[in-house]
Amino acid sequence: MSKDDAARKQPFYRRRTLRFHCTGCGACCRGGDGHYVFLSRHEAEDICSYLGLSWQWFRHRYLARHPDGGLVLRMEGDACVFLEDARCRIYPKRPLQCRSYPFWPEVVTTEKGWRMEARRCEGIGTGARIPVAVVEEILAGGG
Ligand code: SF4
Ligand code: SF4
Repeated sequence: MSKDDAARKQPFYRRRTLRFHCTGCGACCRGGDGHYVFLSRHEAEDICSYLGLSWQWFRHRYLARHPDGGLVLRMEGDACVFLEDARCRIYPKRPLQCRSYPFWPEVVTTEKGWRMEARRCEGIGTGARIPVAVVEEILAGGG
């Protein structure tokens, strides 16, 4: 394999320096059918105690099950139940899925993924350069 071939096989985030700056527009907290905010039981319990609610009430009011059985946040209309005036009500405790956005494997691995996601997220391609090490740390679950 030539050096050029090897370079082309690298994931997109290694071939190009990604730029990103969150404007706080809230678009990533919205979506139509098929948009889910997944979270672990531990994350759910953490949010529940952050809000000072009983587990019973919290589960009833804020949680739902994905058809595959995973735990997800409820949606109200097309928005996450915690989106209020374009702000996240549980920002310090938001799930990893939210904290790691937009550095998701399906978004940063290919140029197409990055460009497609830029249609939703106005912060993609703007602002500071994000070092590869930071992208890889997020991909490894350190969002
Ligand atoms: S869509 Fe992008 S710019 Fe808007 S709040 Fe989400 S991450 Fe930030
Ligand atoms: S938990 Fe917060 S950051 Fe995540 S989708 Fe809901 S409102 Fe957005």
